[in-house]
Amino acid sequence: MSALHIRVILANVDAQKTFYLETFGCQMNVHDSEKVVGTLLQEGYTQVETVEEAGLVLYNTCSIRDKAEQKVFNRLADYKKYKAQGKTFGVLGCVAQQEGEKIFERAPYVSLVCGSASYRNLPQMLVQIQAGKQRVTGLDDRETDECFETEFTARTNPHRGYITIIEGCDKFCAYCVVPFTRGKERSRTSDSVLEEARQMADLGYTEIQLLGQNVNSYKDSAGDRLRKKSFAELLAAVGEIPGIRRVRFTTSHPRDFGRDIVEAIEAVPTLCDHVHLPVQSGSNRVLDAMQRLYTREQYLERMAWMKAAKREISITTDVIVGFPGETETEFGETLSLLDEVGYDAVFSFKYSPRPNTPSLKLEDAIPDEEKARRLEVLMAKQRAIQTTNYKKYIGTMHEVMVEGKNEARGQWIGRTSQNKTLNFTAPADALPKTGSYVPVMTTSSFPNSLLGEMVV
Ligand code: SAM
Ligand code: SF4
Repeated sequence: MSALHIRVILANVDAQKTFYLETFGCQMNVHDSEKVVGTLLQEGYTQVETVEEAGLVLYNTCSIRDKAEQKVFNRLADYKKYKAQGKTFGVLGCVAQQEGEKIFERAPYVSLVCGSASYRNLPQMLVQIQAGKQRVTGLDDRETDECFETEFTARTNPHRGYITIIEGCDKFCAYCVVPFTRGKERSRTSDSVLEEARQMADLGYTEIQLLGQNVNSYKDSAGDRLRKKSFAELLAAVGEIPGIRRVRFTTSHPRDFGRDIVEAIEAVPTLCDHVHLPVQSGSNRVLDAMQRLYTREQYLERMAWMKAAKREISITTDVIVGFPGETETEFGETLSLLDEVGYDAVFSFKYSPRPNTPSLKLEDAIPDEEKARRLEVLMAKQRAIQTTNYKKYIGTMHEVMVEGKNEARGQWIGRTSQNKTLNFTAPADALPKTGSYVPVMTTSSFPNSLLGEMVV
């Protein structure tokens, strides 16, 4: 074989070992992608910025709402033209788990279909693909007790990063695909979480966000009974690691939200004074139909704990409008709950029927126009609530983490412990660094953000 031939073969091998990864969906998916990237880099792959440059094209998908499956197939159809160039295609995440081998039928040029519960087997799957196997799947691990532990996470932000503490979900809310796509609930050991947090602190990270579909359902899988930590204890322990200045967590489930979490926030100053507690509906009848396992009254009791806390805790939530059979009166109960709680942010969604979920079989579907109307009414109400809420911060000082600069506006982007955006101007002789913490005096407010001046 000539030297030229060898060079061409090596160039092809190198091209095969490049990958492009596109991510859709929640923070869990974003963080899964960081772990997938870290795993691939460890396996000798190089990440590239475009599909054209890549030998391996991966698509990490989300199926929580809308016609996610159709969107994935449309995107795969766009990729078809690259197959002739010898590229390998893989579908990861929730749509991969949900659609399974059907993906090969509709997009025969796809070689890898892998749900999140199987990511820990990715290195072996990649070896099979490199060996020429046409179709490789990772779909059968939803009953696993193992998490996707990797020391090779390639975090994209050098100052704040995610740590998964629990994967999967056992709650089976009537509308939700997560238990079907992400498998059964499994917690990491607190030792392993704390080890990862310490490593991050050593690398200079100052903010950690603990992640899980329901972080507060956390059950320490440590074998040693004396070392087992509750979620609140784990939260406090992460907050006490030297160098860590902020700890956040998402998402919590109201049923498992104990007073001990509020007490931990009161006791440990590094725990951010923000709790995201999705309520979904203010009506007990709808909450029951959604199989949410709590009542409006129980939810409001948790709100009362937070409002009585020694530090002001910012509260945000998720709401679904137009769940099957939701009456105008029941929707009104959700509106009255918004008034009663006075949230700092509400992420509101039109109910979207999802495959496999129990609510798919419920009658009394609400027409899409009506769901859209309810969504608009709810958003207008929440905007008014936030306008009032945010005004009260004018004239108050906050420490912000500097996230970057908006060059067009000449403003720095800051985030408060309460997770509010506080943009600010800084004197020319004291320009702040991204990732640093600076004091800012709030001078004006908007429904979704604050504006201020850095204090030197
Ligand atoms: N585990 C969290 C909890 O129990 O609240 C939520 C996780 S889910 C990924 C994020 C949000 O998506 C939910 O809080 C819910 O508001 C929304 N969501 C989930 N399934 C939905 C559906 N079928 N239609 C509309 N919104 C949905
Ligand atoms: Fe979905 Fe309910 Fe689990 Fe949250 S608790 S992930 S909404 S099933």
